[in-house]
Amino acid sequence: GSMETIVGRLAPSPTGRMHIGNVYAALAAWLGVRSRNGRLLLRIEDIDTPRVRKDADRWIMDDLHWLGLDWDGEPIYQSQRIDRYDQAIELLKRRSVTEADGITETGASSTSTTPLIYPCFCSRADIRAASAPNEGDGFIVYPGTCRRLDPQIRAARLARGDRHSWRIAMPANRVETFDDLIFGAQRFDLTRELGDVVVKRSDGLFAYQLAVTVDDLLTGVNQIVRGRDLLRSTAVQLWIRENLIAAGFTTPSVPQSQSHETSQSPQPARPLPQFAHLPLIDDPTGRRLAKRDKAWDLGAMREEGIAPQRIIGYCAWLLGLRPTAAPCTPDELLPGFSWRRIATNRADRLSDPHTL
Ligand code: GLU
Repeated sequence: GSMETIVGRLAPSPTGRMHIGNVYAALAAWLGVRSRNGRLLLRIEDIDTPRVRKDADRWIMDDLHWLGLDWDGEPIYQSQRIDRYDQAIELLKRRSVTEADGITETGASSTSTTPLIYPCFCSRADIRAASAPNEGDGFIVYPGTCRRLDPQIRAARLARGDRHSWRIAMPANRVETFDDLIFGAQRFDLTRELGDVVVKRSDGLFAYQLAVTVDDLLTGVNQIVRGRDLLRSTAVQLWIRENLIAAGFTTPSVPQSQSHETSQSPQPARPLPQFAHLPLIDDPTGRRLAKRDKAWDLGAMREEGIAPQRIIGYCAWLLGLRPTAAPCTPDELLPGFSWRRIATNRADRLSDPHTL
């Protein structure tokens, strides 16, 4: 209900220095929580180890402090939560999905059920070859090749140690709906628009989709703020979340108000988190602003002597919270903050950091 404490999170990937786009998203997440006296967690998303840069977590925390964006408690490192991701996969493996719609415990002898989590032996090239060309955002819907694999062949290939990832099966005829605080009502057909996504990669690393869902659930996050590029991922994460809850995946880190739950008792319905997906920032030529635009790195901007209030003021203008990019502190944006005030048409006018 509306009296519930808001628990938000900053979830940076420590792959390098913060970028204007990260500041823009962090400011929005901070405002959503701080304007309502909620709790803001800092979660360092460092499980994609080949992309992690040493000390980037320190740079990010230093930049957040410098900008005036604070958080509550100790930072959470995904790299220290591998046990939980393992446990989640093991629980999900015991479940299955029926071709009709619902989910059941495995053991039901119907031929129309598939394990909820199944090994996928396809290479990238296999998948590209078998997929319809995608329009737009580059998201490839997995054609389901290994989902239809004969169970004996599947078992034989697993026993032989063939390289494989693990995918979660989407139910047929299921449209996942949610209300976005900024973009309004959303609907995604899980099979047609998302397809079975990877939850554990073939290099043994846990996938983003699994790790964030586990963490948001176990740490009681109820407000998720991030870029619009992750809008369709939200549908995937709602499906994973539903299955984790149905599998009784709870730990003592679930907030007090829910501590009466045990994994034996039926799980009471939990409210969905709130979602706010932010308009993406384009560069002046209309392309998506990329991390390689080094001028928009906080490292470069701080070296140029650009004050934190100018960066915050600029992000506030991009978000549509202020009519001009006049310098300000995050605190000055708190009075009257509302998600309804986020402009969906403004973040496409990024100029040059020197004009801030
Ligand atoms: N670590 C992700 C990023 O930096 C955050 C994803 C999310 O908010 O779910 O883009």
